[in-house]
Amino acid sequence: MVQSDIGHVFLIGAGPGDPELITVKGLRCLHAAEVILYDRLVAPELLEEAHPSALRIFVGKQPQHHTLKQHEINALLIKHAREGKIVARLKGGDPYVFGRGGEEALALREAGIPFEVIPGITSAIAVPAAAGIPVTHRDYASSLTIVTGHEARGGDEAPAINWEALAKLGGTIVVLMGVRALPRFTQQMLEAGMNPQTPAAIIQEGTTSRQRVLVATLESIALQALEQDITSPALTIIGEVVSLAHELHAITALPSVQDLLLSRAS
Ligand code: SAH
Repeated sequence: MVQSDIGHVFLIGAGPGDPELITVKGLRCLHAAEVILYDRLVAPELLEEAHPSALRIFVGKQPQHHTLKQHEINALLIKHAREGKIVARLKGGDPYVFGRGGEEALALREAGIPFEVIPGITSAIAVPAAAGIPVTHRDYASSLTIVTGHEARGGDEAPAINWEALAKLGGTIVVLMGVRALPRFTQQMLEAGMNPQTPAAIIQEGTTSRQRVLVATLESIALQALEQDITSPALTIIGEVVSLAHELHAITALPSVQDLLLSRAS
């Protein structure tokens, strides 16, 4: 049981976009939450799941608005937990995949706040899947590498990626946060000798009704993404598995599970 004098934080993965792709456990914790801190990528429908009296605090990045620094988010989590609240920290996808969940967990540990991580379905795997691209397949790829396109250039981003090494490794490469950097890293991979005809796709707002899928090649994807005005959130997937998109997308374009269940029930 949660103690009443000190609260508890749940670091919850909200899933890749479709609100139904949160876990059963994540949803249960969300129902119990008294305070919710959520990011930009969390489906708005999920917030409606919370108790009407729950305090909802947006802590995501928003253009033209003051963005909370990571240490300010940590402080908010700690403050509400110290007030004895059940706090849900809702993060897009999985909290520990490029979500700074690890930093929040360390801050909570340091502050002596009890917390639990509720893993989520990461966009890195689920978004390609929903667009008909299995990230591995026995005939095409036996490794999967997930990288950030938002790497260090003097700021507080993640350390630099060795794109040349990745190009040599092959397999499937999924790049998160890489819309702006797309021309740069595809060029680096081409210069490293990767086949320009390697299939590549960029998927915007995957698993939602706004999903856009652009299938091209390593050589052409950057220009096509620009021409088609692909914007964040989007991920890029590079590798032979992308060639399955045309075949498998038709299968995944069935009515939603909810529609299907409703039609069976009626
Ligand atoms: N923790 C998250 C990732 C956070 S980084 C996870 O596990 O999914 C944010 C990046 O994830 C975005 O810039 C984008 O590259 C990717 N992303 C998240 N949701 C997405 C979606 N619905 N469609 C496409 N890309 C998505």
